[in-house]
Formats: sequence, structure tokens, C-alpha cells
Amino acid sequence: MTRHDQSTLPKELRELNDVLPRRPSRAEAEAAVRTLIQWAGDDPTREGLVGTPDRVVRAYEEFFSGYGQDPSEILQRTFEETEGYDEIVLLRDIRLESHCEHHMVPIIGKAHVAYLPDRRVVGISKLARVVEVYARRLQIQEKLTAQIANTINEVLQPKGVAVVIEAAHECMTTRGIHKPGVTMVTSRMLGVFRDDPTTRREFFGLIHNAHSGLSNA
Ligand SMILES: [Zn+2]
Repeated sequence: MTRHDQSTLPKELRELNDVLPRRPSRAEAEAAVRTLIQWAGDDPTREGLVGTPDRVVRAYEEFFSGYGQDPSEILQRTFEETEGYDEIVLLRDIRLESHCEHHMVPIIGKAHVAYLPDRRVVGISKLARVVEVYARRLQIQEKLTAQIANTINEVLQPKGVAVVIEAAHECMTTRGIHKPGVTMVTSRMLGVFRDDPTTRREFFGLIHNAHSGLSNA
């Protein structure tokens, strides 16, 4: 993780690092996991658990790798040879794996990301990468949805951006009120997707046709 290599960090995160307490060492993070195991009622020194703190910390490096990355950088490279293409570009059913910031348990679902280009387009995998970078932080779904839309809007400056996320929160399914099968849907519409009902309708039509023959092609 490059979180403390200040020079590579976006400004907002550099400022955040200035006010955050010192980042704990890996050994301290592993000790914290041992404390939680003990608190749960088990013995962190028994054979099956002895390697667990190391594995948990490594898993955290993966789950939260989004802190060391600047999503706006991902969208820097654009293409302008589009033959005047001026219709919606939609990336549908992007697998979403995040963690809720209230319980630190998974949020699993999918994201649909669309924009209406204004002269320039971006490589489609880049849209999925933006989703991933924000998802690999502690999140609430509302903020995640807004961050993805705002970043695409600010960097690409398209005619509009639409983001819809449908996700299940394990803090609802495996604890608390135990309601499996419930998904939360959030959306953020900017530009023409907000102002023009026809464009918005077209976007939702494209999403809802996700399970027609097209998606199996
Ligand atoms: Zn939660």
C-alpha cells in the first residue's frame, strides 16, 4: 500500500493523512485481530487461529486498497476519434464488492454506470476501475454512488452521468434484523440524465433490459 507515500496521493488524502493519527504498523494491526478473536471467546494461540491475524491483515490490504489510489487519474486518458458518437455509453452489471463503514461487513451487488459523451470517451474498463477504487474503501452506498458519478462528471465533463447501484448489505442479512434477499438501490443522475426525462428513461430501459438476450451474447 502506498498510503504513506505522500507524493503519490491526491490532495484530499494528503490532507487526511495530516490529521489522522500515525498509521499503525502491521504488527499492531495483527495484535488488534488477536484481541478481537479473544474478545469473541476463542484462543488466538490455538493451531487453527495462529495464522489468522496475518491473513486478516492481508485481506484488509485487498479490501481497502482503494485508499492509496486516485480515481480521477484512472480517467485521464481519453479518446476523441469517436465519429461524432453522441449516444449513451453504458457499462452494466459491474460486480461491486465493498464494506459498510458502520459494521465493516461486505456490501455485495452491482453497479450500472452510464455517461453521454461530449466529444471524448474513455476506455470502458476505466469506468469499472473507478467503481472498484471507491468500493475498496469503507463506504455507505449513497456516498459510493455519488462519488462515482461526481468523479466521472468532473474529469470527463460529459453531457451527463448516471450511476445506479443495487446491493445487499451483510449487516442486514447476517445480523441485526436478518433480512436476506433485500437489496438497496441508489442512483445519482447528473446533467442530461437529471434534466431530460427521455434520456433518463432510455438509461433505465437499457438497465432493465439487462436480462434480455443481449446480455447473454
Ligand atoms: Zn452496516
